[in-house]
Amino acid sequence: MAKRDYYEVLGVAKNAADAELKKAYRRLAMKYHPDRNPGDTEAENQFKEAKEAYEVLSDSQKRAAYDQFGHAGVDGMRGMGGGGPGGASFSDIFSDVFGDIFGGGGGARGARVFRGADLRYTLEMSLEDAVRGKDVDIQVPTLVACSVCEGSGAAKGSSPQTCPTCHGHGDVRIQQGFFSVQQTCPRCHGEGRVITDPCRSCHGRGRVEERKTLSVKIPAGVDSGDRIRLSGEGESGENGGPPGDLYVQVAVREHAIFKRDGANLRCEVPINMVVAALGGELDVPTLDGRVSLKIPAGTQSGKVFRVRGKGVSPVRGGGPGDLLVRVNVETPVNLTREQSELLEKLGETLDAGAGRHTPEASSWLDGVKRFFDDLKF
Ligand SMILES: [Zn+2]
Ligand SMILES: [Zn+2]
Repeated sequence: MAKRDYYEVLGVAKNAADAELKKAYRRLAMKYHPDRNPGDTEAENQFKEAKEAYEVLSDSQKRAAYDQFGHAGVDGMRGMGGGGPGGASFSDIFSDVFGDIFGGGGGARGARVFRGADLRYTLEMSLEDAVRGKDVDIQVPTLVACSVCEGSGAAKGSSPQTCPTCHGHGDVRIQQGFFSVQQTCPRCHGEGRVITDPCRSCHGRGRVEERKTLSVKIPAGVDSGDRIRLSGEGESGENGGPPGDLYVQVAVREHAIFKRDGANLRCEVPINMVVAALGGELDVPTLDGRVSLKIPAGTQSGKVFRVRGKGVSPVRGGGPGDLLVRVNVETPVNLTREQSELLEKLGETLDAGAGRHTPEASSWLDGVKRFFDDLKF
């Protein structure tokens, strides 16, 4: 039997857009689908023909070959599958075209199966625990199958009944003018069954809330916002569907001394002005004890020193970061008379240095002087 032209089969023009092809195929497939025409071989052939035409024309590569060489151009390609855009299987096309009609279930009969919801749990932890890692026990609320009705939702001695409205299909077909529209059954909401005598324990839901304790291994180096997925520890599914996942989201509490900045830790350390001027050693805290930090003479306030390797090893790998120590030079307060006199004497000698000891103040004063000079013009 000679093959009909694919465009003719779908009833579209040679330059039809993809959306038109899809629409035409959907119309034909709805009409000739074997499920709707049981035992009708003529309908089945029409369905196959439309399917083949759509498979070729919806693939730009095959369509180009067909346009140029006709059936001879694509017959060898058909069914080859494999990689690339030509590899779409029938089921792909089927779900693509029918996904929105059959609710993605491919026309499944009976009770629908739903995956349980994912749950999120926020875990507050100290910076030390986040950096080093920790095993923690958490209590999470979860929906589990009701033990009284074993998850069916029906009271003891009864069982869910096939929905009388949709006869267990979950969908109903409504005639609207020329069109027959498929809709989720309003009575059973697509479940395909109804509970006439609900379980007293779970009120017909089939699931009850419980708290469960989970042991969670928090890996070293986590930071706020990191999530640990516990597969299958979310809510249980409906009608025997798989459970969802539990996401443990880390929230690191603020630390009294350190701030985390990626792999680095930051802290601020006050130093007195004598150490800043003369130089010296400074004890600085790290997460594993104190280290000594050398302060060079003439250190200014706000200077940041880097202590290598005393930061954090991030959970995603990479070596440890650094500890960044910012020093703040502290102005002495509550001076005794003797201290004040010493500072006054020091001040006189600094002034006599003509800016040699206070380069920043001197250049600033120069700038101010130039500013006032310029104002005169
Ligand atoms: Zn129950
Ligand atoms: Zn129903």
